[in-house]
Amino acid sequence: MLLTLLDGYVDEPSCLGVPPYISPYVRYAAGAIVDAGHRCQYRTIDQWRKGASIDGNALLAMTGALVPGRYLRGMPMSYNEFHRITAAFNGPVILGGSSAKHGIGHGGGRAPRQVHDLVDYAAEKDADAFIYDLLHDTLRQRHRTKKEWKRWAIAGTDVVTRHPDFPDTVLAEIETYRGCPRYLTGGCSFCMEPLYGRPETRPADDIVEETARLYELGVRHFRLGCQSCFYSYGSRDIGTRETPRPNVDIIHRLLTGIRARAPDIKVLHIDNANPAVIATYPDEAAEVTRLITRFCTAGNTAALGMETADEAVRTANDLNATPQQTMTAIRLINDIGARQGENGMPRLLPGINFLYGLPGESSITFQKNRAFLHTVMRERLLLRRVNIRQTVPVRSEPAATDTAALKTFKQWVNETVNRPMLQQLVPIGTVLKDVYLEIHQGNHTFGRQIGSYPLLVCLPYPAETGHFVDVKITGHGYRSITGIAYPLDINTASLHALTALPSVGEKRAARIITGRPYADMSELADAMDPEFDTAALSDWCRLG
Ligand code: SF4
Repeated sequence: MLLTLLDGYVDEPSCLGVPPYISPYVRYAAGAIVDAGHRCQYRTIDQWRKGASIDGNALLAMTGALVPGRYLRGMPMSYNEFHRITAAFNGPVILGGSSAKHGIGHGGGRAPRQVHDLVDYAAEKDADAFIYDLLHDTLRQRHRTKKEWKRWAIAGTDVVTRHPDFPDTVLAEIETYRGCPRYLTGGCSFCMEPLYGRPETRPADDIVEETARLYELGVRHFRLGCQSCFYSYGSRDIGTRETPRPNVDIIHRLLTGIRARAPDIKVLHIDNANPAVIATYPDEAAEVTRLITRFCTAGNTAALGMETADEAVRTANDLNATPQQTMTAIRLINDIGARQGENGMPRLLPGINFLYGLPGESSITFQKNRAFLHTVMRERLLLRRVNIRQTVPVRSEPAATDTAALKTFKQWVNETVNRPMLQQLVPIGTVLKDVYLEIHQGNHTFGRQIGSYPLLVCLPYPAETGHFVDVKITGHGYRSITGIAYPLDINTASLHALTALPSVGEKRAARIITGRPYADMSELADAMDPEFDTAALSDWCRLG
């Protein structure tokens, strides 16, 4: 039998599968189908949008974007799209991913839309285990066993070769463990992760094996992203303490194992980290941070689960870290990780997020969050990102948020934190390596480096998309930077690109074009007005 595996993308707090990412869940599902002796047709929702057919005898759709973000490309599947797909499909439809249980998300603060009437089966636990059982004529809601996890992670790797971003830009999200050590107390009020129960950890050797297999197939970008806290991976305290002591040896074994089997890896990043773990065990956390900066690649982000600097909200929602613990974690990561790396970005920085819509929230919450960020700025600490979002009501009803105050807060963060932070992080003249140009908007071209929370890069002129360039920074926005492809060829660059060079402007750009070609910089200097500093241009350009 041929099964179509439709990747409608997942975007969960501890797992990302929106292009260029491919989530482990679709790979496991492909592995389970093959392991059950059937064929698997892999399609992404973007391929379907572009007209690709869905040919299987049965359809397994995977989606789960409960916290939908803003995407440069590759929007997760919408309810309406799923409706159209299921209406046209002739055969049983199974839905997997967190949408099977919670519905399809459509924005922060709004309840996901239920889809049970569109499907024959909803795999509310692991879709891979569900489809495997179904293909053996058994209906069961269950989690995969450890043996299946190991088997399907390998059996499903081939599916990456059918991802539209393969091989140059696809980024494989890798799972290290599932569940949250804070399940012991029920965990943060808004989060689904503790509902899994006692966390299940994958052996380092299994993770290395999966990474090596993906590497052999041609994948060069990886993120150890599927876990509630990277620093807690392999801790012996999981199951007995909600703030486990980091196990430095197992993290060393994991990272060195990956580098040994995947020597020319281009990106190796991590994702989440619990600030309470870092602050409670600063010695072990410092060692883990050194391992990350040594064995992972630059531009890496430890996304700290902070949510609020307001103690009242923290207590009301049993959140994981105090504001003081988060500040300690930010300082520690900055101390070790903030130096510039090989791709122009710092090696490792913390990221933080603020969550609104939690019980206990008041006007004081905004004040406390501002005060926290003031301290970060005063100490000249770096943050890779400040994410502000509203809760999606999955475990409980959201509290009412003062939307006008939230808007003001966002604007304040943009002006007081985001732009000054970017200016500090990547000053004008910094060269960002290997920016992949992805889309055009008007006369502008947008791209990103491949990796975790990449900076949005804008070239203020039309440029060819679908390839990598180095970019030299000319300006900073709130959440993006502007730059030019580096080095810019004076003899072939467009009027728009030349205009974007520092101190050039449209008139001089036109003058440059009129006098082309130039054999050397002195010829160019002769063509320009006397006030223009041609020598300064050689830092940005070349003559091809
Ligand atoms: S620490 Fe809180 S937010 Fe993070 S995974 Fe655990 S319960 Fe969820």
